[in-house]
Amino acid sequence: MEDKTNSLHTKKKKTRAKDPCPVCEKELYHNKHYSKRIGLFDINTESHDILGWSCPHCDSEFDKSDNIMYIYGQNYTQGKS
Ligand SMILES: [Zn+2]
Repeated sequence: MEDKTNSLHTKKKKTRAKDPCPVCEKELYHNKHYSKRIGLFDINTESHDILGWSCPHCDSEFDKSDNIMYIYGQNYTQGKS
C-alpha cells in the first residue's frame, strides 16, 4: 500500500516568529529597528517613563522586563476569580 499522505508530513509545523509574544506567540518583530510592541508610558511623570509594552495581537501587557502584567487585557495576578 502506498502512503500518499507522506508528502504532507515533510512540512514541519513550526512558528518562525523571530520575536514572539510570550502569551499568544504571534510575531512582534517588525524590522531591525522597530517591533510591533505598543509602548506603555507613564503619563503622570514629566519624563514619560516607559512602563512596559503591550501586544497588539492579544492585548496582553508586560512590564519592562517582559513580566506579564495583564493577560488578554485582564489582570494577571487576579486571574483566580
Ligand atoms: Zn500577544
